[in-house]
Amino acid sequence: MKYIHSLINGELIKTDKSITRENPASLEKIYEVSMCSEKEVDLACNSAQKAFKVWSKLPGSERGEILFNISRRIKDKSETLSKINTNETGKPLKESMLVELKGVVKTFEYYAGLASKINGTSQTINENLLSVTIKEAIGVVGQILPWNFPLLLAAWKIAPALASGCTIVLKPSELTPSGTLELAKICEDAGVPPGVINIVQGSGEVVGSSIVKHEIISKISFTGSTKVGKQIVKNSSENLTKLSLELGGKAPNIIFADSNIESCIEANLRGGFFNQGENCTAVTRLLIDEKIIDEFIEIYVSKVSKINQGMPNDITSEIGCLISEPHLKKVDSYVEQGVAEGGELLLGGETNSEFPGYFYKPTIIKINDTNNILFKDEVFGPVVSVMSFASEEEAVILANQTSYGLAGGIWTQDISRAIKVSRLVDAGYLWINTYGGIIPETPYGGFKQSGYGKELGIEGLNEYLKTKNVSIFTGDKLPKWYGNN
Ligand code: NAD
Repeated sequence: MKYIHSLINGELIKTDKSITRENPASLEKIYEVSMCSEKEVDLACNSAQKAFKVWSKLPGSERGEILFNISRRIKDKSETLSKINTNETGKPLKESMLVELKGVVKTFEYYAGLASKINGTSQTINENLLSVTIKEAIGVVGQILPWNFPLLLAAWKIAPALASGCTIVLKPSELTPSGTLELAKICEDAGVPPGVINIVQGSGEVVGSSIVKHEIISKISFTGSTKVGKQIVKNSSENLTKLSLELGGKAPNIIFADSNIESCIEANLRGGFFNQGENCTAVTRLLIDEKIIDEFIEIYVSKVSKINQGMPNDITSEIGCLISEPHLKKVDSYVEQGVAEGGELLLGGETNSEFPGYFYKPTIIKINDTNNILFKDEVFGPVVSVMSFASEEEAVILANQTSYGLAGGIWTQDISRAIKVSRLVDAGYLWINTYGGIIPETPYGGFKQSGYGKELGIEGLNEYLKTKNVSIFTGDKLPKWYGNN
């Protein structure tokens, strides 16, 4: 069986321990994954520290050239990477090719351009004092990834880190190790020197936590659950390591009665069911004006029931399967609990046994109680809850009645209301009259228990830079402070 290695200092590393990964749609065993220990994390950190001396000193324009080269090579290998991605995640091939891989290419292109535009500032404080700020690469960074967008999220982390001059120790999810390794190999083929990107495969408890605790690591960029994010905060206190945390979400989508219903329904099909709802910005709470909720539900349920669920590698499939059996069980038990707590099942609510793997039918549940588990917890599956509101004020209260603050949407033809409500919704990434699609030019990240720090945009690059101030005396003679003796 194929073996998925780690990549340390440019060499593929095999360890004594491995786990078997299956294709979640066909249930075929697809590869053995190398499981590393603290020893390999240490090797990777040392290799990244050595490589930092070279990579951080390259002119930004040269790093940018290499990043452009990476984006071109990924474009050329898009189809192969998409197939690997779909095989290990269960997401439709159409989504891998037309959304995820396109996003990967665009992210590398965007940061390729920014690599030569890292600027500090200068300030004349007074006629004898000039202050200059210098932006420097922060050092060796640890990057820890989830399984839902393995390649896109790897690009969101690797591209700004490389552009800034940092070197990397990256741990993919143990469920999706293969695509990320291929991406790192492409980066090396495109000119990234050995040791700049190190991929360490393994569990979160062993490899993840030892990356977080390692003294060589200057910053951790983590994407994953809020529960693990809190563990990382604790572990990072040993070295006071800088953190950015992209955690869970429970996005509301507020739909006022004057919305363009056709566009709104279309956006909410993607909002709720893109990537099987295994999406941190997935719309999981549809908040609908009571004046239109019945009409909305009738059309929405009918459209969702027509989404074509099928084997992910079939290019016509519109929704695939969930990542693993435990995850399928978790999603199903949330639905069961939501219904037991008074939710009205409008569609789905069961596994799809037409296919061998972990398929769950697109599910819609109407709720009227904010204590319902489906209003509060992140399900991370194809499950959308709908609830009505009677006034603008109530819509805002419901939208914010969550411990998360990652994303959300607002639908209305009234521009003043749209802007007013967008100011009141406490989430880091909002859409008005559209939903979904995060582009590299825009800063992305959540509030409250969705984490802190930003990815993407110029703010995403700044996460990998530190600011040094240099004050320069430009006068002839310093004034005296201590007497004249
Ligand atoms: P997870 O938190 O279980 O795991 C994420 C990663 O952390 C994995 O690589 C895992 O091995 C590692 N890990 C586990 N324990 C660790 C520890 N103690 N120290 C260090 N690393 C550890 O999340 P998941 O199940 O892989 O992904 C789903 C979650 O990710 C959802 O909550 C989702 O909302 C979140 N997510 C957030 C965003 C975002 O941008 N905010 C994007 C995608 C996914």
